[in-house]
Amino acid sequence: MSGSFAVVDPSIGEAFTEVAMASAAEVDRAVGRAVRAQARWAALAPLDRARLLRRFAAVVDARGEELAALEVRNSGHPVDGARWEAGHVRDVLEYFSAAPERLIGKQIPVAGGIDVTFHEPLGVVGVIVPWNFPMTIAAWGFAPALAAGNAVVLKPAEWTPLTALRLAELALEAGLPDGLLQAVPGTGAVAGEALVRHPDVAKVVFTGSTATGSRVMALAAEQVKPVTLELGGKSANLVFADADLDAAAAAAPGAVFDNAGQDCCARSRILVERSVLDAFLERLEPAVRAWRVGDPRQEGVQMGPLVSAAHRDRVASFLDGRTPLMRGSAPDGPGFWFAPAVVLPEAPDDRLLSEEVFGPVVAVQAFEGEAEGVALANATRYGLSGSIWTRDLGRGLRVSRAVRSGALSVNSNSSVRYTTPFGGMKRSGIGRELGPDAPLHFTDEKNVFYATGDPA
Ligand code: NDP
Repeated sequence: MSGSFAVVDPSIGEAFTEVAMASAAEVDRAVGRAVRAQARWAALAPLDRARLLRRFAAVVDARGEELAALEVRNSGHPVDGARWEAGHVRDVLEYFSAAPERLIGKQIPVAGGIDVTFHEPLGVVGVIVPWNFPMTIAAWGFAPALAAGNAVVLKPAEWTPLTALRLAELALEAGLPDGLLQAVPGTGAVAGEALVRHPDVAKVVFTGSTATGSRVMALAAEQVKPVTLELGGKSANLVFADADLDAAAAAAPGAVFDNAGQDCCARSRILVERSVLDAFLERLEPAVRAWRVGDPRQEGVQMGPLVSAAHRDRVASFLDGRTPLMRGSAPDGPGFWFAPAVVLPEAPDDRLLSEEVFGPVVAVQAFEGEAEGVALANATRYGLSGSIWTRDLGRGLRVSRAVRSGALSVNSNSSVRYTTPFGGMKRSGIGRELGPDAPLHFTDEKNVFYATGDPA
């Protein structure tokens, strides 16, 4: 190990434990164990692998309160949300537990023999996750990867390693082979890069910033290693004049302040058709003021602190020299608190319209007509999520096809369901997670031709 780092409770700003940091040599040993575990895993019958994954889901279910409590303390997530996250990990494992028996190849008609395809596991997969949703994003990587017959080495973010470490222990408790799912906490520069560069890591799934994703992709390219990248966002919440304004305004705070805005899917730009701008803002104000920010241990609280002092300071820098149009409330220190803010940008090149804040700050812009609304929604290098509010079904269909984002919702804030594909366009990433095809992304398709001696 190369030292340790302090794990901080962001609601009080105090360290409560320490975690050892993995060195490059430690990562190398973890990958070696994963290679051996994967061979044992792949040798099991598909039904046995499915049963073990279901047992893993049951163990996560039994430990749901414990996992939620860890996330509340380490990440500052409100307890209701943290419970949902633990349940989501269980559901994701259950959903993908069907895959070992359903990775069905093809038999392709050819002359002179029989042609068959196989979906073979890649081997060891490196999953690098950020601090904003430590356990759910980890599960999106490891559950389909394990289901497809791989082993996983998981690198959590330095600030939030606890649930990843616990999930790896629970995998062992559930009876998965020792070494099949390991967590290697450490820095991105050391443990993260060692994982990406390791020759026995066959694929990397990375979630985090676009800059780091680009670095990961460059390192992986040296070994022609496939990557899935789930990166940043600057998503639009498009409100048309014909929308149900009460519903759109009531949903808008949740669409950006959920998880204190530390969400790649945050709708951090609200675009409102000019003729209803005032009517929309009138409805938004009470919803922003009612957004409950406070002790994440209390049920009913909607937003806890930001993850760290450094991140809070970065978010605060977006408000330097501005007076927000609306401001919610937040407790006074000593935690990393930040009151939600609604801001009118100063100019079209305002950084609030182009940079990912990753905090509870939303910019409101007006537009005239459908074409300008779509153009503004697309005026970003990102393309992850977004919402469209309209009562006109045709418009909902047209606009959802015209906005360049991977996960859109009409008259809803929903971005992620484990049964449907999720991922970004443009600089928001490459590849898709979740949904029925996810296990296939952790396999190589092999084609074998068996000559039968028949005439070709
Ligand atoms: P990063 O992209 O730096 O970190 C994400 C993960 O990658 C962490 O586990 C990190 O490790 C690791 N990592 C960092 N550098 C490397 C590297 N060179 N090679 C391999 N792995 C690496 O995000 P930050 O935590 O710094 O957040 C910065 C900004 O990124 C946020 O403010 C937000 O804008 C965006 N972001 C987007 C997320 C999303 O879900 N799309 C999630 C998180 C951030 P470690 O943290 O231990 O150094």
